[in-house]
Amino acid sequence: MAERKELYLGYTTDKAMTPFMQDFLENLDEDRLMKSVCTSCSAEYLPPRQHCQKCLSEAKLTEMTESEATLYSYVVVNFAPETLSSKGVYIVAIGEFPSGLKLTAHITNFATMSGPPEVGMPLKLKFAKEADGKMITYRWLV
Ligand SMILES: [Zn+2]
Repeated sequence: MAERKELYLGYTTDKAMTPFMQDFLENLDEDRLMKSVCTSCSAEYLPPRQHCQKCLSEAKLTEMTESEATLYSYVVVNFAPETLSSKGVYIVAIGEFPSGLKLTAHITNFATMSGPPEVGMPLKLKFAKEADGKMITYRWLV
């Protein structure tokens, strides 16, 4: 269960994967977040999907130009899974970009907040590398 959560919120660079995911990771490694856009119906996916959920056509990676979002929803995790136990309490948040695309990531600087998170508050996307660069991910900053 904990492993599934980590895969969703971070990406390891040492595992074999599809060329599509490899391309996504190489961009993320250079601080570019990619969405995918369906070549047939223009539906957008974030995190990107290689095939459109609506029409099953191929979707192509396209760089996200938005880096600021608003807090759509969040959960405070008081009891971290073993792999995240060093983090203590943490917040997993869904941010909504102006385009309507949503992205789930940790809020890592919530200690700087004077109170609990509030839906609608501004979030800023930040790229991060962990585990000696073997894991690349993104975070929300408040
Ligand atoms: Zn489509």
